[in-house]
Amino acid sequence: MSDLFNFKARTKQYGVMGNPVSHSKSPQIHQLFAQQFGVAMEYNRIQVDIGGFEQAVSHFIAHGGSGLNVTVPFKVSAWRLCGGTGNHLSERAQHAEAVNTIRVDDDGAVFGDNTDGVGMVRDIENNIGLKIASMRVLVLGAGGAVRGILAPLVHCHPMALVVVNRSVHKALMLAEKVGHGVVACSYERLAEQLAKLSTFDLIINGSSASLSGELPDIPAHCFGANSVAYDMMYSQQPTVFMRWALENGAGRAFDGLGMLVEQAAESFYLWYGTRPQTKSVLGALRKL
Ligand code: NDP
Repeated sequence: MSDLFNFKARTKQYGVMGNPVSHSKSPQIHQLFAQQFGVAMEYNRIQVDIGGFEQAVSHFIAHGGSGLNVTVPFKVSAWRLCGGTGNHLSERAQHAEAVNTIRVDDDGAVFGDNTDGVGMVRDIENNIGLKIASMRVLVLGAGGAVRGILAPLVHCHPMALVVVNRSVHKALMLAEKVGHGVVACSYERLAEQLAKLSTFDLIINGSSASLSGELPDIPAHCFGANSVAYDMMYSQQPTVFMRWALENGAGRAFDGLGMLVEQAAESFYLWYGTRPQTKSVLGALRKL
């Protein structure tokens, strides 16, 4: 019988490591998932000092921990901890060179995955109802989160995929690594791409600009009447990027709460081998 349904099994321990981490909604999300299956799960926020990630993971494993989510700024450290390559990493984590989910196996070995990209794609395609295939997609930013979403986006076969970043070398590096015709450019040269494509159907803000109430420097005419703006950040109120997109002609705008829930569901699947339902959890979080 699977451990999931063995009610005598000890309560397994999970957690999210980050700095800061106090804002994380992951404990609520995973408790709601666990309730769907009637499993007892302990899930804590674990604040980790910069430079102390490896030690914190060792400590967690030594105390019987079964799995972790990893958030800013430790996703690359987690990828290294899982070996950087080889059979302790999923293919998508190897591509992203970043890990947001760790499973601790019975022998204490760690396995790293990156569920951010699949989480975002499921939110866009299943929850919002868009088909990324044939879309002209613009991604803003080239930080840790964008590393995880480019390859999953490519797998959806967009007509065009452009990545733009303030520090253009990071965008160029990611585009080269992902290949498949992904184009990278600076904000200054975005107008050239726009002239070729005439508009973008989907504009994903994967920069952290919204966190400080700022807007990435893109021309307002990036948005057409049918364009969808998607901010990976989420908050109680529409983000500054969502508001700006709607004011400048975007048809619809969404935040990244659905992505958060979907990436968590994929983490849960890695740990328990079963996929929770997400719609009710997303609805519950929106009401909090
Ligand atoms: P990083 O710190 O790794 O990267 C930040 C990126 O934002 C860099 O590309 C940086 O450019 C760019 N940036 C920062 N400020 C500005 C600005 N004012 N104008 C233009 N670009 C800017 O962050 P992450 O990649 O980890 O996170 C990015 C966003 O994604 C955050 O808002 C985070 O909350 C969200 N996120 C959401 C998830 C979800 O499940 N919904 C999951 C993961 C992340 P440069 O390189 O030039 O400094």
